[in-house]
Amino acid sequence: MADLCCGCRAALTSDEVAITRRLINRGTTRFYCRSCLAEAFGLTTEDVDRAISYYRRIGCTLFRN
Ligand SMILES: [Zn+2]
Repeated sequence: MADLCCGCRAALTSDEVAITRRLINRGTTRFYCRSCLAEAFGLTTEDVDRAISYYRRIGCTLFRN
């Protein structure tokens, strides 16, 4: 079963789960979609996507494949 966003209940991608861990806390059990993360951090969804690309590029182990 897919994780759901704690804000809007949207189904989450593995990238969204990973970026939530990265931005909030590695041990968090509450995950958020791009839109809810962007709102919480005062960012745009493009910023969140850029952050995902960045962490993937530097080889962050939270981001698989
Ligand atoms: Zn959401």
